[in-house]
Amino acid sequence: MVIGRIRTDATTMKLLITKPTKKQELEHLKSLNKDRKFFELDNNQGHGIDWPSDIKDFEYNPSIYDCNFNRIKALRQPIKMMIERIEKEIKDYRPFDTYEIRITANGVGGEYNEEGDRGVVLIHHHAWARSDKRLFDLTIHELIHLGIEHIVKEKKLTQDEKEKMVEDIHTQLDGKKHYYL
Ligand SMILES: [Zn+2]
Repeated sequence: MVIGRIRTDATTMKLLITKPTKKQELEHLKSLNKDRKFFELDNNQGHGIDWPSDIKDFEYNPSIYDCNFNRIKALRQPIKMMIERIEKEIKDYRPFDTYEIRITANGVGGEYNEEGDRGVVLIHHHAWARSDKRLFDLTIHELIHLGIEHIVKEKKLTQDEKEKMVEDIHTQLDGKKHYYL
């Protein structure tokens, strides 16, 4: 259970890896459309965007999620261990009882969202098709975003300051430099 930022029992943390339902994909598309301007501007900084021009054109095909779903499932244990380290080592990181990593066919490579009391990371089904290491790092990057968003809001950090903060935490954890946003 999480009280404030302290987890009272380390064994209660849940990590789910899921494929989206059709309803979840449609809701994701709607939220992407709301942020379309932001993503189109941001695309200049290297975000790739993937979505149909009209929500009506979206076709739900459950099999396209299989590849990255299976790859992330294979990375489940290292991801779980990294979440435990982040919660322990990163001061002010706000833990969640349940983390969900969900594959999506739309949007950018990685995104993060709070859904109720659940921390959700969305990973594009094409993300880092050739590198498990980069897929792992992308997932960790978005997981770091999730737990520091309250600081970003409190301190009114800019997009660049926010990414730098995530980057610095990531480097603190694994001693490496990462280049994605
Ligand atoms: Zn980022």
